[in-house]
Amino acid sequence: MNQLTLSADLISRDIQPVKSERKPSPPAYLDTRVTKSQRESRRTRSQRARERLATKEHLSRLAVGLGEVELAHKIERCHSRLSVLTCGRHIARIIPNFTCEFRLCPDCGRRRSRRLQNKYLPAMRAFMLHRKVTPVHLVLTQTHKKENRKQSAARIKDSFTRLQRRGFWNQHFKGGTWSLEFTKDKNGLHHTHLHIIGFRRKFFDIELLRVEWLTATGDSHVLHLKPITDIAAGLQEVVKYVSKPLDIRRFGAEDLKEFLGLKNMRMFGTFGEFRNFCKDFEPSDNDAAAVGESESFSRDLVEGCACPQCNEPLFDVRMSAKELPQFYEQVESSPPGEVRKSSH
Ligand SMILES: [Zn+2]
Ligand SMILES: [Zn+2]
Repeated sequence: MNQLTLSADLISRDIQPVKSERKPSPPAYLDTRVTKSQRESRRTRSQRARERLATKEHLSRLAVGLGEVELAHKIERCHSRLSVLTCGRHIARIIPNFTCEFRLCPDCGRRRSRRLQNKYLPAMRAFMLHRKVTPVHLVLTQTHKKENRKQSAARIKDSFTRLQRRGFWNQHFKGGTWSLEFTKDKNGLHHTHLHIIGFRRKFFDIELLRVEWLTATGDSHVLHLKPITDIAAGLQEVVKYVSKPLDIRRFGAEDLKEFLGLKNMRMFGTFGEFRNFCKDFEPSDNDAAAVGESESFSRDLVEGCACPQCNEPLFDVRMSAKELPQFYEQVESSPPGEVRKSSH
């Protein structure tokens, strides 16, 4: 099959140079992705809160259109009334009236990814220490075919299973975590990627890994690898796709319908030796402290407690979700160093 006919998008640009036996050009798509995630992290909390509101409005409109009235109602109710614990300059904790737990809900997704971070970060730190491995962020991609989301996800997961059975993989990696990211191009083709935090035993030539991935997929050697210097930031980056598995702005009624059919699909998991390590891992007090501003910490805060940032007493402000962005704006206008520390 001629790969170039599969898609005219950026990934095929990466395939072309191989045909002429030159080194592959930098994967253009993935470079864009890095810029995008950097751009995302630069957005203020008030901007992000506004985007979450817009996303939820869009989702509930789509749900109504599909006759999923109950789902629409749950999304609208989720985080609609908030109790915000604040000292006036920092927000220490936000307690919602109700959580819908819908997988595409941006508010519930944020909580879900925080839970994953609190659960896996201590295990990752301990694993790195005990097994003398270094973490890398590996993005595996596949060619695009006419298939639905479920088939696309199953195909890339199967390829990854084959990759893990290969000697090369086992010589160089001691397990890690995976998460799925879905996007769709303008031709309606699914682009499914696996974001992997791999614990690397030793260095290797990236070209060799490309060949291994080509063998596992049969038609794609496109991958991207970068070292992770800060494991907390690395984990945060990959669990982002658990809270935001797809681009909701380009999401239509058909996409939502398809997504509702995926109810039990796993979006995140562990593999290899790290998987077994997590089963037995009991975080010590030190490990728990290493997580930092974790949910388990802020969960204990109540009105009258000292603000973790400035020690001023916390008070409770009741507001609707629509008022939250503006409240963030007020807080964001306080001294920048302090606000940054409180952001999450
Ligand atoms: Zn929700
Ligand atoms: Zn404060």
